[in-house]
Amino acid sequence: MAEIIIKNLRKDFGDFTAVKESSFTIADGEFFMLLGPSGCGKTTTLRMIAGLELPTSGEIFLDGEEISQRPPSQRDIAFVFQMFALYPHMNVRRNISYPLVSQGMKRKDVRAKVAEVAKILGIEDMLDKSVGGLSGGDRQRVALGRAIVRDPKAFMMDEPLGALDAEFRERMSEELRALHDRMGATTVYVTHDQLEAMQMGDKIVVMNNAVVEQFGTPQDIYDKPASLFVADFIGSPSMNFLNFNGQIDEGATEVTLGGARVPVPLQHEHQDGQLVFGVRPEHVVLADDGALRAQVLTTEYLGTTQIVVLQSEFGELKARVDSSLPVAAGDQLGISFNTPTITLFDQSTGRAIRSELNEEALRNG
Ligand code: ATP
Repeated sequence: MAEIIIKNLRKDFGDFTAVKESSFTIADGEFFMLLGPSGCGKTTTLRMIAGLELPTSGEIFLDGEEISQRPPSQRDIAFVFQMFALYPHMNVRRNISYPLVSQGMKRKDVRAKVAEVAKILGIEDMLDKSVGGLSGGDRQRVALGRAIVRDPKAFMMDEPLGALDAEFRERMSEELRALHDRMGATTVYVTHDQLEAMQMGDKIVVMNNAVVEQFGTPQDIYDKPASLFVADFIGSPSMNFLNFNGQIDEGATEVTLGGARVPVPLQHEHQDGQLVFGVRPEHVVLADDGALRAQVLTTEYLGTTQIVVLQSEFGELKARVDSSLPVAAGDQLGISFNTPTITLFDQSTGRAIRSELNEEALRNG
C-alpha cells in the first residue's frame, strides 16, 4: 500500500507536450481515477507513475521516496492493461503464478498464494482450465490475479474494462470496486467514461489538453466544477450554460439576466468581463412565478424523471424534473434556479469565479 505524490510532472514528445505541469496526491488505499477525453494525457501520466515512460521534468514520490527516474522493476507497481496478454499455452494457475515463479518463490508458497488470490477473485474452480476458452470477464479476472499475486504497493489500470460489452462492464466495475474495498490497495485507474469515474472513484483528476483541470471527490467535481470544461464533461445531460454581458461585484448576490434579477451564491471576486451562468438541469425549477420566461420545445421521458428542453431568451436549456409533472411541447413557463448550486464562469479564462459554494474546493485544490 502506498501514497503517491505527483509534483509538476511534464512529458514532452519532441515539440509536443502530452502532460503539462501536473500536480496531485493519491492517498494510501485510494481508488483514484484519471478522467478525460481521448488524447488528453491520461495514459502518459499513468505510464510515468509505473515507470514505462520517464518524465521530462517533475517528480513522483511513492511512500515518500522519489522514484521518477527508476525503472519499472524497482517501483513495485503492477500495471493492468486493457488487452492483457495472458500466456495462451498456460492454464489459469500457471498464468497467475508466473510472476512468483520468475521471482524464484518456493513451489509450496506459490501454490498457497495462488489459492489465496483465486479465492479473492472467485475463480478457484477455473485454476486448471486453459485461458483460451475463458470469457472476456474471466480473462480479465485472471489478468487481475496475475497483478495481485505479487502484492505490489499500487495498481495502475488503463481502461481495463474497455473491451467488455456494456452490461458485463457494469458488473465487472462493481466487482473491481468490491475487490478494491477488500484489499485496500492504492489503485490508479484511467478512463474516458465520466460515469465510470463517478461510480468507482474515491477521487478524480479531470484532464484536458495535457492539463489537470480539477482534482477532487466525485461530488466536489460535480457540484463545484472549477472550469467550463469540467462542468460540461461531467453529468448527463451536462450543465446548462447561459451567456450574458454584465459585471459582477465583490459581495454581489444577484445578477441581471435580461429584465430579471436572478439570485446567485455570494461572490468573492469582482469581474467585469463576459460571464457564463452555469446551472445543472436538476436545479432548474419550473414554476409559474419564476422570474424568467421559457417555452417548452420537447420532453424526454426517463422513468422517474423527465428532461424538459426549454427555449429562453438566453438560449436553450434543459431541466430535469419529476416525470409526473404535466409539461408538453409549446407550454409557456416561468423558470427559476436553485441558487446555491449556480456557478458563474469567466468566459475568457473558462474558470469558475470564486463564490461561497466553490471557495473551499479552490482552497483545497
Ligand atoms: P487515449 O484514451 O486516447 O489513450 P489519453 O488521454 O490516454 O488518450 P495519451 O495516450 O496519454 O492520451 O496521449 C496523449 C497525447 O500524447 C496524444 O496526442 C498522443 O498521440 C501523444 N503521445 C503519446 N505517446 C506518444 C509517443 N510515444 N510519441 C509521440 N506522441 C505520443
